[in-house]
Amino acid sequence: MILKYHIQMTRAALSPYFSERALEIIIAANLKQDDLKNQIGHDEIHYDNNAIDKGDRYIIEQRGTIIATLLSPGILAAWIAFGRMLHTAQDFYAHTNYVSLWLDQFDGAPPPPAEVDPLKKDLVKSPNLRSGKIYFPLDWLYFIKPLRPLILKFLPKDSHGWMNLDSPEQGPKFDYALAAATKRTEYELDLLRKLLTPEMFARFTDKQPV
Ligand SMILES: [Zn+2]
Repeated sequence: MILKYHIQMTRAALSPYFSERALEIIIAANLKQDDLKNQIGHDEIHYDNNAIDKGDRYIIEQRGTIIATLLSPGILAAWIAFGRMLHTAQDFYAHTNYVSLWLDQFDGAPPPPAEVDPLKKDLVKSPNLRSGKIYFPLDWLYFIKPLRPLILKFLPKDSHGWMNLDSPEQGPKFDYALAAATKRTEYELDLLRKLLTPEMFARFTDKQPV
């Protein structure tokens, strides 16, 4: 997704629970995932090129880093790992066909975006789950806005260019991707709340419980 939405979703889901300084580090680490060096050869970070299993594994690894960091007196590495992980978890909804598979269940009359289930078991494990392939150099030229209509004529339908839900320009499915990714962000925090001891969780959020 474009950076603005990574910020918006992360703030919406985490602001009530984290100190501002923690939130800023988490968001900076999230956004850094879209640096050029994290784009080339890192399909797992963005669930690109059908790297579904690798993306899932990347999330598990970052969660492991969070837990390992909080078992020591450290904290910074936990916030950075959380930001990295959230970027990938959020990109899942923008770069795979999960939203399309979810909508397909409703025969053309889907519930509103707020009701999207971000982790429907049979869809997350569906053999039909795919993500956009990056075709060089067309999928890079796609990002030059005035060229986009022309480039799309040459890109196959299974490309990132055709499949992405990175911004509202992609149509009504974007709202479902945004809602699902925001809910997923909340889910990842809830999961950590369950996995960590109350003391570790308080250190992680850097905020006194109210
Ligand atoms: Zn990304």
